[in-house]
Amino acid sequence: MLGQRVALPSLAAKGVWDAIVIGGGITGAGILLEAARRGHKVLLLEQKDFSWGTSSRSSKMVHGGLRYIAQGDVRLTRHALQERERLLSELPDLVVRMPYIFPIRRGRFPGRWPMTFILKLYDALAGIRDHRWMSLAELKQAYPALNPRGLRGAMRYTDALTDDSRLVMRVLQEASLEGATARNYTEVQSIKSHGQVHELVARDAESGERIVLQARQVFNATGLWADRLSGSPPVVRPQRGTHLFVAASRLPVRDCLTILHPDDRRPVFVFPWKGQTCIGTTDIDHREDIEDEPHCTPAEVDYLLKVANSEMPDLHLRRDDVLATMAGVRPIIASGKGRDPSKERRDHLVWQANGVISVSGGKLTTFRQIALDALKAAGLIDARAHREAHQGRHLRCFRHALPSPQGLNDPLQGPAGGAALQAQVAWILTHEMVMHLDDLLLRRLRLGLLCDDAGESLLNTLKPMCQMQLGWDDARWQGECARYRELIARSYR
Ligand SMILES: Cc1cc2nc3c(=O)[nH]c(=O)nc-3n(C[C@H](O)[C@H](O)[C@H](O)COP(=O)(O)OP(=O)(O)OC[C@H]3O[C@@H](n4cnc5c(N)ncnc54)[C@H](O)[C@@H]3O)c2cc1C
Repeated sequence: MLGQRVALPSLAAKGVWDAIVIGGGITGAGILLEAARRGHKVLLLEQKDFSWGTSSRSSKMVHGGLRYIAQGDVRLTRHALQERERLLSELPDLVVRMPYIFPIRRGRFPGRWPMTFILKLYDALAGIRDHRWMSLAELKQAYPALNPRGLRGAMRYTDALTDDSRLVMRVLQEASLEGATARNYTEVQSIKSHGQVHELVARDAESGERIVLQARQVFNATGLWADRLSGSPPVVRPQRGTHLFVAASRLPVRDCLTILHPDDRRPVFVFPWKGQTCIGTTDIDHREDIEDEPHCTPAEVDYLLKVANSEMPDLHLRRDDVLATMAGVRPIIASGKGRDPSKERRDHLVWQANGVISVSGGKLTTFRQIALDALKAAGLIDARAHREAHQGRHLRCFRHALPSPQGLNDPLQGPAGGAALQAQVAWILTHEMVMHLDDLLLRRLRLGLLCDDAGESLLNTLKPMCQMQLGWDDARWQGECARYRELIARSYR
């Protein structure tokens, strides 16, 4: 299991690693797991916290992506649906099936029959049959606040929901149980290739200590940052997507509502997540420095409130209903055709330059398949093993049971309190390599997104636990609180 960080010199003392994976998002975690389970000596290095990048800022959907099928991308949809079904069966506490409701309005595309056709294909690709027409009466009973203008009923189908950051932790734990090592707050600054062996300069972001590590294979799984280490011309087009979190009491939904924005007809999701309601996402070119924590603009907040208010006008959602905002930047593989951000393909790309295998783009859902493609490019699996693993529905991805505390992973359960919260925190501090208070509150527990005070009122409960288990003195605790408050104000409000 992951625990406390291994000291940098002991990583160097292990000699030449079979592979070093750079980047602790879902892509890097997936590569680490698939390499470790094949018996390779592997190490993952993450410059900040695990899942700090795009992988904690997604729409949290484990899905085929209905709009990709509508765009004719059947291959991506089929692969994603195959993985969705696998994750639903292997991680039932973390990936849950979710009803999606798509209201149909008179004179608006897509209508009932095109949607029925698409959903038949969608379900067939997943090997299930789980869609149906919802009558107007049924829809109105479930969602009385829906704008009645032209409403005819809805298509109901199912997809899945998760907690993206906890999924990354789960994959890292599995990799660790397969013998892999992972270390956060460790930046790879450079890679030099010497024939069969690569030398990486790694820097501890906490102490500033630098060390040279050696590996036979290097995977650059840094997503948005992949161009910096790939040694090849840039391919990544950064696109920002923002979500809003609103109290469930102000915007109560049991299912994932898919609604079309009145300005540009883009689909926006309104869904229950960890006891609150999430609205997202926007899709715009991100022109800011990718070193900075992303944040949303007031225009993005207005855009998302507008679609919610146009679909449910009586709720009168306002800016002060927003508990938190969450901006994420998607590493899109640029088509170079100057397409509208929403029209760019969501495929991943694996490419090789100077012996470094780079991987970027893709989806949270397809992490296992992306990992297999990367291992094949590195020659760690051959074409046959790749094909079999790609198709192999019978092969389990998660083989180890993890006794994590109840409710911690559940994407639909709200924050715990009292003894249940203490049990979750004790587990996290022991097993999940927390280095800063924001690791705990934003990515392990998600309280920074879900509480109107970002978890401030829980700090007194957390203080003795962090001090005892992490050895933080009063000055360190004060510094951590200040760092957290500053971060919340800058990027999450
Ligand atoms: C708004 C939005 C919504 C989305 N919704 C969904 C969805 O619902 N379902 C879905 O399947 N997918 C979704 N996606 C896509 C999905 O989130 C991404 O494809 C996925 O998270 C990318 O993971 P990654 O590991 O490649 O990148 P990241 O998670 O960004 O990980 C890369 C990591 O590399 C680290 N790094 C960078 N440079 C270095 C270095 N020099 N040394 C060490 N570490 C380094 C970074 O700190 C970062 O943590 C969404 C994306 C966005 C933006």
